[in-house]
Amino acid sequence: MTTLARTSSQDTADQARQNQGRSGRKTAEAAQQRRATQQQRRLEVQVLAEETECWRCGGPVDQSIQGSTHPWGPVILHPKPAWAGGNALDRTNAHLAHRRCKAAYCEQLRAQQRTR
Ligand SMILES: [Zn+2]
Repeated sequence: MTTLARTSSQDTADQARQNQGRSGRKTAEAAQQRRATQQQRRLEVQVLAEETECWRCGGPVDQSIQGSTHPWGPVILHPKPAWAGGNALDRTNAHLAHRRCKAAYCEQLRAQQRTR
């Protein structure tokens, strides 16, 4: 699905990364990024296994809903998102939520940030 959405600007960015991909530092960063992604996946699996209700509205979340657009589909919500200084790999900062509830929550958070 995502491959279809690739734009030419992303291809250019990929080429630029390949061209500068010789230094060991970049490789170490990439490895760390991969580890973080793996940890995040594992955490998401754990949250999905341990939680059945939406963190925001408390309603049951149907985990059989597939895809990435269904408003009642299951998503992982970080009460304190990374952009607000939260740790996305912290189990206490990751909960199950409805997609629409997460969207509403994030919008609310952003609005709070703007007014500060
Ligand atoms: Zn909900």
